[in-house]
Amino acid sequence: MKRRELSIAVRSLGFLCVFCAATVNSFALEREAFTFTSYDLNVQIEPDLHRLGVRGKVTLRNDSQAPQKIAVLQISSSLDWRSVKAGDKPVQFVSQPYTSDIDHTGGLSEAIVTLPQAIAPKGTVELEIAYEGVILLDATRLTRIGTPEEAANSTDWDRIDAKFTAVRGAGYVAWYPIATDVANLSEGNSLFEVLDRWKTREAGSTMHLRVVMIGGDLEHDHMLFGGVSCSVIEVESTSAPNQRIAADCASQRLRSDVPTFVVADYQVLERPAIEVKYLRGHDVAATTSADAAEKVVPFITEWFGPRREKAKTADLADPKAAPFESGALLLMPLTGDDPKLAGLAAAHQLTHASFLSFRPWIEEGLAHFAQALYLEQQSGRQAALVYMGLHRSAFNQVDAPTAPPRAEDEANRSLVNTTSEELYRSKAMCVWWMLRDMVGEAGLKKALAAYRAEQDKEPSYMPRLIAAQTQRDLEWFFDDWVYRDRGLPDFKVESAFSRKTMTNAYMVTITVDNLGTTGAEVPITVKFAGGDTTKRLEVRAKSKGVIRVEVPASPQEVVVNDGSVPESDMRNNTFRIEVTDK
Ligand SMILES: [Zn+2]
Repeated sequence: MKRRELSIAVRSLGFLCVFCAATVNSFALEREAFTFTSYDLNVQIEPDLHRLGVRGKVTLRNDSQAPQKIAVLQISSSLDWRSVKAGDKPVQFVSQPYTSDIDHTGGLSEAIVTLPQAIAPKGTVELEIAYEGVILLDATRLTRIGTPEEAANSTDWDRIDAKFTAVRGAGYVAWYPIATDVANLSEGNSLFEVLDRWKTREAGSTMHLRVVMIGGDLEHDHMLFGGVSCSVIEVESTSAPNQRIAADCASQRLRSDVPTFVVADYQVLERPAIEVKYLRGHDVAATTSADAAEKVVPFITEWFGPRREKAKTADLADPKAAPFESGALLLMPLTGDDPKLAGLAAAHQLTHASFLSFRPWIEEGLAHFAQALYLEQQSGRQAALVYMGLHRSAFNQVDAPTAPPRAEDEANRSLVNTTSEELYRSKAMCVWWMLRDMVGEAGLKKALAAYRAEQDKEPSYMPRLIAAQTQRDLEWFFDDWVYRDRGLPDFKVESAFSRKTMTNAYMVTITVDNLGTTGAEVPITVKFAGGDTTKRLEVRAKSKGVIRVEVPASPQEVVVNDGSVPESDMRNNTFRIEVTDK
């Protein structure tokens, strides 16, 4: 990229901007009017200088109801706009700071562009853009709401640096232009809602990048991309400091991954299913992680089908850095040597490498479900239930335990619509687990095998595939758990009566009351001297269910729900049995 040419362009545009400043303010800006349908960008990264320079084209489509004369393009506040052109001619734009927590710096540089003519609804415009600047470690959005600096830096670890470069896209660093309303971390779910709207709008868009890395001591093994698939096209002049590596990258459709790039002095461990890039001194953790992944492969394949892509893990320099995933790419500090934890992480990652869906409750819910399945396979059902219990405490706080959700929340917070990670990760995992218990393992595997992301046009597509595998009516279940958020069930054993049978066994008649607003099929365990027997009972919302359980010895206690069904109150789930020996 020729930086001199760019700076000349901006100087001449600087004058224009002075004039348009006054006019822009008189408009109420519709920041989310345009969708970016395509990015075609030349990206130059200079790790030694912390620099990013971008030049290229973006296509915008007016998705609002009204014609639009103004388009807003936003990049990180540490980057500066150099030029904006339409049809080869510079267009008027004002560059202004915009406070928003969608970027790690807590701010954006906006180019408020006056288009040559108004764009009609559904009309498109192509803009040629140039911007550049530095990307430094910056956690302002977190520190200004009181996050301690160290924790903030371990969360927002993005930076371009000679030693370690890692930059994630929208939601972390606006290194490619976006257009969003203000996101505020101190206002509840605001950031997630803004991000979700952005991702939804961008679902069908394409990105093509030509990336050039300059300087330093680079090898192509050192580069890693997520959310786009890349091929290294040239490595020029192999000696520092004039080294250049170029890569050609295109976005993978049907997945809402955040385009991400990482550059570090990595060592590489290649296995058939996974590639692990690790930093010097982390050999043990890298090997543990690769070995664990290879062991989990057959299990994941059996559940979620053959691998679509190779899983990739890359080391993060900060040992406390928060892990980040983008599809089958996992960025995490490789410090541990616990094979069990490594297996747990691999189960999640390999599920992404096999199974693709753009619906978070399917994509992420299944990857977490795979972790619970893995634990069950390794250490038994109880280990899986404990693990799910940890997740449950997360969404129990989101899913108000006492009051049923308001009507609008029922739809907004449903698994098919929610933007809340607690719901589409943790709650979805429990829903998949319940479905497995209800439909059976073979049936659920068949439904998953029949799923095709490109055919998933309706929220009911996956539920219909599952329903096809069973004679049971599951519509009520999907209504309560997937299409709506009706809160959680609350089971209570109302009564349990035991009677001795002719064969000297005991027949226990149990009435279970569901005080909650959501139905479920729940396990009921009768404990007797020397053992227990478990059966399952469907109890709809605000209803009662009755079940008879035969046990070989005098029954002592009934427990409803082994923890596999999320419930708002587990304190009323145990019942002591009175024995009537008639
Ligand atoms: Zn995931």
